[in-house]
Amino acid sequence: MYRICVEISLDQLAANYHAVQKVVGPDVAVAPVLKADAYRHGSVEVAHRLQAEGAHWLAVSNAEEGVVLRESGIRLRILVMGDFLPPERDALVEYSLTPVIHSLERLKEYDRLAESLERTLPCHLKLDTGMGRLGIRATCEELAAAAASARHLHLEGLMTHFASAADFSTRQTTDQIVQFETAVQALEQAGLRPPLLHLGSSATVAYGIRRAFGTMVRPGLAIYGYVAPSKGDAPRAELDVQPALTWNSRLVEIKEMPEGAYVGYGATWRAGRRTRLGIVAAGYADGIPHAVSNRGKVIVDGYLAPIVGAVSMDLITVDLTDVPPARVGDRVTLLGRENSVRWDADDIAAAAGTISYTVLCGIGNRVKRVYI
Ligand SMILES: *Cc1c(COP(=O)(O)O)cnc(C)c1O
Repeated sequence: MYRICVEISLDQLAANYHAVQKVVGPDVAVAPVLKADAYRHGSVEVAHRLQAEGAHWLAVSNAEEGVVLRESGIRLRILVMGDFLPPERDALVEYSLTPVIHSLERLKEYDRLAESLERTLPCHLKLDTGMGRLGIRATCEELAAAAASARHLHLEGLMTHFASAADFSTRQTTDQIVQFETAVQALEQAGLRPPLLHLGSSATVAYGIRRAFGTMVRPGLAIYGYVAPSKGDAPRAELDVQPALTWNSRLVEIKEMPEGAYVGYGATWRAGRRTRLGIVAAGYADGIPHAVSNRGKVIVDGYLAPIVGAVSMDLITVDLTDVPPARVGDRVTLLGRENSVRWDADDIAAAAGTISYTVLCGIGNRVKRVYI
């Protein structure tokens, strides 16, 4: 029994992966995104399960994340989407990691590296079609000329990333798709046909934006069981995924507080009635956002109980007055479901004024992980 732990269902992760594959169909590859320690689900365990489920590609953010997977015995292709700093390039080659290249200068540098090694190295090129972050912003002519002259590289993939994939109140996604398609045509005219064309992540799959499926998709959040909420006139979500992670702690103490008593740092909560206060072994050092102070909830014995007072480093305080069975030592579900009562990363994010991604990525190091 752990003070605080996450339980991760690898079966649910596998089911989510297959649900994504089902939406995109057999002709589109699925490259699950395992960056940031698989959104804190544990990248090594997740990668091994996905390898066993038949995935061909995994995507991470930096070379170090890829090296961890290789050293754990992962044989799949690994795409490194974020970093491409000079000190990392040796690791890319040594560990057979496939980089995404974000500018025409870097393309030249990597081509020279391949030449010096007398090898042909695979790479994917990323276009900035509107995200305004990493990616090549060049004319189609410049792009085609640079790609054609990189003779020691195998241009295996062309990709882009959407800024507003779940927002159906803007044309941005369509504009980005059009730009991408124009670049694909320009490359084709120069005799270059990268087999892997990938644009979309979870939202693209979830809302069935077929024109953006290309020949590969890069879902992260959906693999872990979430779909980002949409804006505007969204198509009905096609994807059936469920959270794979639940997060539990324990009630370390229960005490009676008289009406009028203050609770926690800054005395931000005052008992409006005689209150049974529960003290839970979880705090912001474990990843409970401070912003859920007086706003969040937890599940205790099947009841939703409000967080009262400020979240502190190691503890939160909850109002158990309406949770009759609660006893010291009882399990507290910080994120998850008990019977029909659900409190997931979207609920925590809404209470904290943030997004589900940061809730999952924020789960702290000292939270033990159990795979079920
Ligand atoms: C993180 C990331 C993804 C995955 O995004 P989700 O919304 O979690 O599916 C895909 N592509 C790139 C480039 C990313 O950085």
